[in-house]
Amino acid sequence: MRALTAPNYDPLTVYQTCINGVTDDSLIDRLNNITDEIVFAAKDYEQKAKAQLLYTIPKNNCKNNEIALGKVTKEELKEVYTSYMVVSSKPARDIYDSLLSQAHLGKCPYCGFGQTRTLDHYLPKAKYPQFSVLPFNLVPSCRDCNTGKNTAIATTAEAQSLHPYFDHQIFINDQWLYAKVNETKPATIYFFVKAPKQWDEISKARVQAHFCNFNLSSRYSVEAGDALVSLRDVLISYCQSFGSKSVRDLLKIEANSSAKQHSNSWKTAMLQALVVSDWYCDGGFL
Ligand SMILES: [Zn+2]
Repeated sequence: MRALTAPNYDPLTVYQTCINGVTDDSLIDRLNNITDEIVFAAKDYEQKAKAQLLYTIPKNNCKNNEIALGKVTKEELKEVYTSYMVVSSKPARDIYDSLLSQAHLGKCPYCGFGQTRTLDHYLPKAKYPQFSVLPFNLVPSCRDCNTGKNTAIATTAEAQSLHPYFDHQIFINDQWLYAKVNETKPATIYFFVKAPKQWDEISKARVQAHFCNFNLSSRYSVEAGDALVSLRDVLISYCQSFGSKSVRDLLKIEANSSAKQHSNSWKTAMLQALVVSDWYCDGGFL
């Protein structure tokens, strides 16, 4: 997970900018009439997100054509996003683009390697339509993380995926992602979570949930597989020039450099695993 600074857009301004794109007078009135509820929900979201309590917000299980808030249906609330924020000709599209551009170097904050292409609703609008255009709930994400994530909604603190806007400190600073080398030909990498012992039990469970919800184990293994193919040629050349013992030294340098950038990237975990693997350093890379 990579941390992002929470957007400083005022939720009310974003909501009203979306309404500015609506042409149906009846809908405009009905959307304006629930402004107080939308603002209240936004404040509640922010407070609960900071306290890791988003799972306590009740799901809205009504059907799309049923009233979700005031006189506005669930479908109409969802469309505030799909028809009045995403559509390029609408005034709120600038906000959409701005939120999308917040990801550092365009990297998806959920997985750390995918390219951001879309905004993900951390709490899905299908069950939380009141947050369909809430900036805090819109996280830039890659398509795999947005569409491939486990859609089960967390009902406990432990099951909550990490929130890039609100879950910073320990999840970024402390290492919890590790890997092991499978002694296969060619070598493959197995990724796993091992949270620091001093963490509280909820935080330990949450990184595991995040890892599972975004299917990171297999996705990281695929990325690592590609990287090992490239690394093989580098190590062969290095071995020929500086001797077989230089392989581990080079990997150590690479691992330390990667860890300085991101302590929980698949690349850091992979390189660390390679360094401690006698099998790999003694020729497993061939
Ligand atoms: Zn991603």
